[in-house]
Amino acid sequence: MNPTEPNSPVGGAIALRVRDIVKSFGPQRILDGVSLDIERGKVVCILGPSGSGKSTLLRCLNWLAPPDAGEVWIGDERVGVREGPHQRLQPRPAREIRAQRSRIGMVFQNFNLWPHMSVIDNVMEGLISVKGIPRLEASDIAAEALRKVGLAGKHTAMPAALSGGQQQRVGIARMLAMAPEVILFDEPTSALDPELVGEVLAVMRALAAAQTTMIVVTHEVAFARDVADVVVFMDGGKVVEMGPPEQVIDQPSSARLRQFLQRFN
Ligand code: ADP
Ligand code: MG
Repeated sequence: MNPTEPNSPVGGAIALRVRDIVKSFGPQRILDGVSLDIERGKVVCILGPSGSGKSTLLRCLNWLAPPDAGEVWIGDERVGVREGPHQRLQPRPAREIRAQRSRIGMVFQNFNLWPHMSVIDNVMEGLISVKGIPRLEASDIAAEALRKVGLAGKHTAMPAALSGGQQQRVGIARMLAMAPEVILFDEPTSALDPELVGEVLAVMRALAAAQTTMIVVTHEVAFARDVADVVVFMDGGKVVEMGPPEQVIDQPSSARLRQFLQRFN
């Protein structure tokens, strides 16, 4: 299949292409044919009620939850091959999956830091173990990533000594250090006390301003309206609406989205 067709306005500008992703857990179909494209340097925000499949979609994109069917393309390269419609994907070599995860980075709701490692060791870990970068060079890359998230002074701190907002910024630095082509954020602020949300959103705004390609699952509707180039509304394992924020957030066309947005007004 040619990646530049169908549905592709400009082949080279697409960072990540997602086609017809299907995923079930037992008898329950959690993702029911999800497709979307993200262009390089753009921000896609995904909104949707709890249980609509947002986390599962992100987990499919970096193979934490291998999809049952569908395609994921990084640029013009297809990762994860579908044999035929709705046939199970072949198991993939671990090496290939690690490579995919270093190209599609993920930031988790609960930070997932190593509790027994210092801040800088957390950030260096993937560089050394996944990318095979020597320690000295890894520590330079990690220091630069920590500087970007405003934690230059915290190299030797242990995660437990940090606030939730600082821990999440370490999570972001750890992912930035890997220099992925696309960053997935799964509700990065929803585990934080309200007063700590702003510092994490500020880091994400700076990344967006620096043209980082990002997919952000969030309940921060105001953030999505300001920062997203494209807003996706998911419900029941499907994309219900997709478009610029002025359209999707300000003039929702479905009753389901209008109802969802009412909660945030
Ligand atoms: P969201 O992130 O939009 O809240 P999720 O993708 O986490 O939604 O979950 C969608 C549905 O899939 C939920 O009903 C959830 O219970 C189910 N689900 C998610 N992960 C698993 C799993 N590993 N095993 C079984 N069911 C799962
Ligand atoms: Mg979720």
